[in-house]
Parts: sequence; structure tokens; C-alpha cells
Amino acid sequence: MTQFVPPAQPNDPIVDAVGKLVQSVFGHDRATRARTAAILLCAIMYAICCSAAYYAAQINLMRPFAPKLLWATSMPAYVVFYSLVRFGKTKHLKDPTLMLPQNLFALLAIAFAYTAVGPHDRGVVLVLIALVMVFGMYTHTPKQSVQIGVLAMLLLGLSMGVLAHIDPDYYPPDLELLRFELMLGTVPTLIFSAYQISSWRNRLSAQRKDLKIALEQVQQMATHDVLTGLYNRRFMQDRLEDAVKRFERYGERFTVVLIDLDHFKRVNDQYGHKVGDQALMAFANASGIVLRETDIIARWGGEEFIFLLPNTAAEKALIALERLRQTLATCTVSENVPQLRVKFSAGVAVHDCVTSLTHTLERADKALYEAKSSGRDRDVTAPPDKP
Ligand code: GH3
Ligand code: MG
Ligand code: MG
Repeated sequence: MTQFVPPAQPNDPIVDAVGKLVQSVFGHDRATRARTAAILLCAIMYAICCSAAYYAAQINLMRPFAPKLLWATSMPAYVVFYSLVRFGKTKHLKDPTLMLPQNLFALLAIAFAYTAVGPHDRGVVLVLIALVMVFGMYTHTPKQSVQIGVLAMLLLGLSMGVLAHIDPDYYPPDLELLRFELMLGTVPTLIFSAYQISSWRNRLSAQRKDLKIALEQVQQMATHDVLTGLYNRRFMQDRLEDAVKRFERYGERFTVVLIDLDHFKRVNDQYGHKVGDQALMAFANASGIVLRETDIIARWGGEEFIFLLPNTAAEKALIALERLRQTLATCTVSENVPQLRVKFSAGVAVHDCVTSLTHTLERADKALYEAKSSGRDRDVTAPPDKP
């Protein structure tokens, strides 16, 4: 298939420099860039929350040591998360964004912040649980979303209960109970929503995978022959038309070889269709081994095959066909019929002047007919075409 390659444009040095900077901060591939962006966004949110905590401590709404501890734990933790993700250390993991460890860290930080805020204002901290759940619902499995939600309730419920018991002045039991009830009334709804969104996401990604596989199968079926695995006639027809266009534009000649297996009816009649099929597969395998990777091989019809040999003169095509004949002479078609060998006749036509594809195929077909009528197991080259 010919592909359009746009001419190279001179690069803008500023655009280049910005591109390099973005790549060095976020990573070189798209997936890594998306992950590091998520981590950096969380790091910024921690920085904002920490400065809010410093302010809260200044106006006596929070214990003075708490902001320092939050800052001193969250920033190093995020340097570690960022480094692991940015330098590809998590690529092979099921959770390459490290969302689960990030969520666990966030829950611990929220629980700590909750205990450090003054008796009448700590309820505000509970809102942050929603943030953790929302972040997780786009990466977690449904089960993980439930686990994170339940863990949040347990961790905070336990803190409320234990602290109200130990220090009832700073953690008034009636207020803690009220907040616990509010948490019970809201977090399960969040858990349910996170579970549903994770399930939809999982279902969608499974459907996308199935669709991709189905599309690949359809493409394979539309372009390949089921028995031999070679390209089919429709695919080859398109490649031949491409080759004609390339010849007209760039003068790249090509050779077409039409092949028909000799006395194939006899193979079927004497040994059965299964052996006949094995013979077709043996021919396909041998052709794949002998010809170049740039050559295209297709099943043209029943026991007829066609080769498209780009940039190849007739003599070179004949050498390849001779090699194929020698390979087939040593190739066992079926264990049940060890003496059976595949033989073929070939018609060779070079497309090296402006003419239609049909005409070149007709010349190859005529040459094949001559090969058959002059005794089979041979190649005949069509006389050069008149321009
Ligand atoms: P010739 O040397 O003149 O080409 O003789 P031939 O027997 O090969 O020619 P003919 O065209 O008369 O026979 C072709 C046979 O190929 C007939 C058909 O049953 C068989 N054939 C076509 N497709 C398949 C296939 O997929 N599997 C099998 N087993 N046989 C096939
Ligand atoms: Mg035939
Ligand atoms: Mg035949």
C-alpha cells in the first residue's frame, strides 16, 4: 500500500524546547505522561491541603505539629510515587499509576488530619474521603473501590471511637457520634457509586478488547485464505493495482507469476480431499520459505496461486521458481502418502510498460497455458509487452 509521507518541516526551536521539557517532566510515552500527570495533580492537591493546614494551625484550628508532619510525609511519599511512575518502574504492574498505595496513603493522612483538627471543625476533613473515592473509581476494580470505602469508614470510625474514649475533652463523644452517623449515611452511597462506575469501566474495557479481537479476525478473514493462510484474491487484486500505480508514477516494474498445480485432480481422486488440502498447504509453506519478504503470495483460486514480485526481472523470477521446485521435491506432503510431491506449472509476465493490469494477467495466464500444454512442471515467460 502506498503511504503519503508529508515533507519534513523545519522545527520551531521554542516548540522543540517546550516539547523536550514536557517529555522530561512527564515521560516519553503517552501512558506514562497520563500517569505522571495524575500523580503531579495529587501532589499539588497535597501541597494546597498542607498550606491550608498551616493556616488552620496559625488560627488555632489544628494542632501545631500536624501541618509539619503532613508536609514531611506527603512530599517524600509523592517524590517516591512520581519517580517510580516517571521512570517506568511500575509499567509491568496491574496498577501502574500506584493508585491503590496513593489511596491508602491518603486515607492515613485524612485520618491523621481528622484527629489533629479542633473539636468543632474536624467534620470538614471527612469531605476529603469523597475525593479519594472519586480518584480511585477510574482505576480500581469494583472490589478495590469497596475495600477503600470500607477501610475509610473503619479507620475514621475507629479513630472517632478510640479518641472519644481516651480524650473526651478534645473529642466530645456526642459530636464524634454525630459525625460517625453522618459518615454512615454518606460514605456507603459513595462506595456504591464507585463500585458501579468501576464495573461499567471494566465492562467497557472488556467490550473494547473483544471488539478489537473481532475486528482483527474480520480483517484476517477479509484478506486471507482460510486453508493456506496466504493472502486471498481480493487482497492480491488491490496489491496488484497498487503495483501498477507505482510503476506508472515511479517506473518500478514488477513480475506476476500465475501458478497452477499439476494434475491436482488426480491427487484428490487417488488420495482424497484431505491429502489434496495438505498439498495446497505444503505449496503455500514452501512458497513462504523460498520467496522474499517483499514478495506477495496469494491463493488465486482452487489450486491456483499468484506471486507478485516487486522490482524483479523475469530471469530472477525463474531462479526463484526453480528454488521453489527444488524445495517442493524434498517436501513430504502427507505422512500417509510419503512419496507424493507437489508439482506446478507457472506463467511469468513482467509489467514494464504502460498497460492495464488485466493485460498483464492475461499474458501470465497465456504463458501458464503454454507451460501446461508443453508438458507441465515448467515455467514459461510471456514475451515482452509492446509499449
Ligand atoms: P492440470 O495439471 O491441467 O492443472 O490438472 P488439474 O487436475 O490440476 O486441473 P483441474 O483444474 O482439472 O483440477 C483442479 C482440481 O483442484 C479440481 C478441484 O477439485 C481441486 N481443488 C480446488 N480447490 C481445492 C481445495 O481447496 N482442496 C482440494 N483438496 N482440492 C481442490
Ligand atoms: Mg486449475
Ligand atoms: Mg491444476
